[in-house]
Parts: sequence; C-alpha cells; structure tokens
Amino acid sequence: MPVADNLKEIRANINAACKRSNRNAEDITIIGVTKYVTIERTLEAVGAGIKNLGENRLEGFQEKYNHFSDSVKWHFIGTLQSRKVKDVISEIDFIHSLDRKSLAKEIDKRSKRPIDCFIQVNVSEEESKHGVALGDVEFFISELKNYSNIRVIGLMTMAQHTDDENVLRQTFASLREKRDQIMLKDLSHAPCQYLSMGMSNDYEIAIEEGATHIRIGSKLVGSKNL
Ligand SMILES: *Cc1c(COP(=O)(O)O)cnc(C)c1O
Repeated sequence: MPVADNLKEIRANINAACKRSNRNAEDITIIGVTKYVTIERTLEAVGAGIKNLGENRLEGFQEKYNHFSDSVKWHFIGTLQSRKVKDVISEIDFIHSLDRKSLAKEIDKRSKRPIDCFIQVNVSEEESKHGVALGDVEFFISELKNYSNIRVIGLMTMAQHTDDENVLRQTFASLREKRDQIMLKDLSHAPCQYLSMGMSNDYEIAIEEGATHIRIGSKLVGSKNL
C-alpha cells in the first residue's frame, strides 16, 4: 500500500480516538518508524506528509539521515549505547530511550545544546524490556537536574505485546498518572508535558489514554524491506 493511503487511514483513526476522548488531533504527533524499510520508502513517507521519523538502531539512522532536509525531525527510539552518543548526538532531535544516569551523563558531556529527552519507563516490568521502573521515575528525574544539556520533555513506554485492551489501557493510564505527578512539580529541567506511547497495534487506545506522540512503523510504512 502507498504510505499516503496508510496515513489517511491512520489519521481517520486518530480523529476518531480524539473524538471519543475529547482531545484535539493537532496535539498528536505521528512518528513514522522506518526501521524496517528502505530510504526510498522513507522518502515516500515524508512526501506523504510525515515530518517526524524514528529509528531504533544507529546504523539505520546514519544510513538515512543525510537523505533528508533539516525540516525532518529525528527521534531515536531504541537502546542507545553510551559510547555511541558522540557519533550522533548533534544529528538527533529527540531521544525516547533515556533510562540510566550514565547515558544522561554522556549526552550532557557530548552535546553542544540541550537535548529533548523522554524517559523510557518499563511500566509492565517485563524483564526483557529496558526502562526505569515506574516507582523510580521521580528519583531518576531528580538526579538529572544538574545536566544542563538534558531536558526531560516527557515519558515513553512500550506496552506489552497483547490484545487485552484492559492491560494496554492500564499501562498507558499508569504512565499518564506518573507524567501528571511530575508536571505538578514544575521542574525547570523536566517540564515533562508529553507522552510517547502507542504503536501500530495499540495507538488508538494510547491516544484515548493521553498519548501525545505515537510511534507507528508497520501500519504506516510496512514491516518488510520495502
Ligand atoms: C519498532 C518500534 C515501534 C513501531 O512498531 P510498529 O508495531 O511496527 O508500529 C515503536 N516504538 C519502538 C520503540 C520500536 O522499536
């Protein structure tokens, strides 16, 4: 399917989810996750109107980056090794996977400007997943206050791989509640107004529960090497 057709369907679903939850579709940013696909398919996505792209591996990001103008914003959504930070930090606009102090320290040291970061939270507490435990998020954020190049703009999570709507809803709602608690503290280094949650299979539920950034790969550009 052309990306434009997929995007049209996704936008209609976003509008419907916003209507159900009394939200504004303009408040939802679609991040096109292009980790499965080629540069050509990624260019097609940008041509269709996608302005934010996400990659989870540095190799994929570095291969694509130079093919796009500065008007495209790049979101790094995968595990970032500290020793690789220096290679890419000047090119990345958002990091969704900040989950440890050593990584924050390296970003702070290597970047020449403040970087907008989401704290990755392991809400479901699955052992296979990265992320700070829900109960440790506030302490973790307090530890980042002296890193002047880290700006915590929100929280990110990946929900369980399940079709159980209640489990998904509970996961997203827990992240939203945590975000609300942090926002109330009015921290200058952590405005924390955004929620990066929802992927191809669960973005509508995520929007109903407050997502501001949804990360869509397979339903937008496909999951085979197109
Ligand atoms: C791959 C990936 C996505 C997109 O997954 P789809 O199910 O293909 O939409 C979103 N977020 C992260 C962190 C990913 O690694």
